[in-house]
Amino acid sequence: MPIQKTLSIIKPDAVVKNLTGKINARLEDAGLRIIAQKRLQLTRSQAEKFYEVHREKAFFDDLCEHMSSAPVVVQVLCGENAVSKNREIMGATNPANAEIGTIRRDFGQSIEHNVVHGSDSPENADIEIKFFFSQLEIIE
Ligand code: ADP
Ligand code: MG
Repeated sequence: MPIQKTLSIIKPDAVVKNLTGKINARLEDAGLRIIAQKRLQLTRSQAEKFYEVHREKAFFDDLCEHMSSAPVVVQVLCGENAVSKNREIMGATNPANAEIGTIRRDFGQSIEHNVVHGSDSPENADIEIKFFFSQLEIIE
């Protein structure tokens, strides 16, 4: 299985609830390694740039509003099949549809407040990691 990197974001709803450690434990228990991590607050325009692909969606404004409403914790995860492994332990976009034991099912409130972001392909992982991290900040 390929060793990959993926971008994870612990979203404002989870940071406000002080769930960073509990979420990190889920990631590590699943065999993913947090090889870079920082806490920051996105501006509205940074959130819009990050979620550019969703610009035409009805939920775009609310999404960007939420993502810039409070700090986030952005992280690079590394491990075997890290992209799909992270998506698996995150669970479905809507926590109500996510499997029991997934991060979104266990900590999410709603499709808007669903606790975490994870890259959806290795190609997007590369782009998203570069959005937040310089090469110097990623220690393998
Ligand atoms: P995912 O985060 O699972 O990759 P998407 O990329 O489709 O999901 O959507 C990005 C984010 O936009 C979701 O995590 C969620 O917070 C929000 N979102 C997606 N679909 C909806 C929707 N129908 N209504 C409100 N918010 C949504
Ligand atoms: Mg997505």
